[in-house]
Amino acid sequence: MPTIFSRIANGEIPSYRIASDDSYYAFLDINPVAPGHTLVIPRKENDYIFDLSDADYAGLALFAKKVAKALEAAVPCKRIGVAVMGLEVPHTHIHLIPIQKESDMNFFREKLTLSPEEMSGIAAKAEAAFNEMYGNK
Ligand code: 5GP
Repeated sequence: MPTIFSRIANGEIPSYRIASDDSYYAFLDINPVAPGHTLVIPRKENDYIFDLSDADYAGLALFAKKVAKALEAAVPCKRIGVAVMGLEVPHTHIHLIPIQKESDMNFFREKLTLSPEEMSGIAAKAEAAFNEMYGNK
């Protein structure tokens, strides 16, 4: 049975897409800790990031780097923070979080509630920045 993230990447479950190619997919986290909180996943299913082959790990990291650059351009922030946990969804994913300060990386505080319009506005800006920088592949 496909994971929830595979179903998102396949378009079966809606998401706020930031970037997509044949191997990777990036989309807004539904319960963001900061505006623009994004998840980057490989399309190939694998539970634990450090079980990826060297090539797949490098490919995911390089795709996440491009997504981070697009987020930086689209969301006011000082930096893009990076986190990997994977305790909730058993499909490898990298969290990219636009931050102004260290405490913006706090996963324990109450999650933000952004409206669908706010989420789609952020996603549209970030996707446009990604496409401008890297083409739509
Ligand atoms: P982790 O597995 O790294 O502990 O956390 C999983 C992350 O996936 C959480 O931040 C959670 O909000 C996010 N998430 C879980 N289900 C969905 C979903 O259906 N759609 C989206 N966009 N994000 C999800």
